Amino acid sequence: MEKRHELYAGKAKSVHATDDPDLLVLTFRDDTSAFDGERMESLARKGMVNNTFNAYIMEKLQAAGIPTHFEKRLSGTESLVKKLEMIPVECVVRNIAAGGLVKRLGVEEGKALSPPTFELFLKDDAKHDPMINESLAETFGWATPGQLAEMKSLTFQVNEVLKALFEEGDLLLVDYKLEFGLFKGQIVLGDEFSPDGCRLWDAKTREKLDKDRFRQGLGGVIEAYEEVGRRIGVRFD
Ligand code: 5GP
Repeated sequence: MEKRHELYAGKAKSVHATDDPDLLVLTFRDDTSAFDGERMESLARKGMVNNTFNAYIMEKLQAAGIPTHFEKRLSGTESLVKKLEMIPVECVVRNIAAGGLVKRLGVEEGKALSPPTFELFLKDDAKHDPMINESLAETFGWATPGQLAEMKSLTFQVNEVLKALFEEGDLLLVDYKLEFGLFKGQIVLGDEFSPDGCRLWDAKTREKLDKDRFRQGLGGVIEAYEEVGRRIGVRFD
């Protein structure tokens, strides 16, 4: 497999073509952004930590029967993935109230949500990823009702697998965002799963061990990501 030209550079990852039209190389960079790209910083080791973390999670999800784009880790900061036609919709599940939900509805941070909630957002930084729903997604052609139903079902399946995995490390999976795409007509989990796109709290102290440390200027961002990884069995080189 040969890595070829860059197709796209996102806020934290770059995407390169390969000699196989069905495969891409994802490169996880040290760049860290918050507030739809308004704040950008470079955090040493982040690319390696998130690539390694993501590979571990994607393999667990794949083993649990959830189709993902992940093929294999190629190096410290690179992974080989299937080329998906991405659906511009972010799926968010919340087990505990935090972040946007607290801001929007004024509920108390830390309130257990039963059953867990499911929300859709349009992936569009310029519009600050507005909240949408199934009707808007269908009307504007972002996803069909069948695709949305599959995405919702897979997003909740991920919750069962990962809540249990993090629980073993004394961690609470507060919420997370997933992105999906199409590979030969099938809905497949894409993008990444790392502490950049979820909230993880220490189960006893409720210390924040995710990207909120960066958003809220708490420091120790990458140390927290590594701590989470170590607790669930990730080995960082
Ligand atoms: P909230 O709606 O509370 O801001 O986010 C809910 C969850 O989804 C959090 O775990 C947050 O990290 C994740 N999330 C939502 N939108 C984005 C996004 O555009 N980028 C990343 N990395 N994570 C997101």
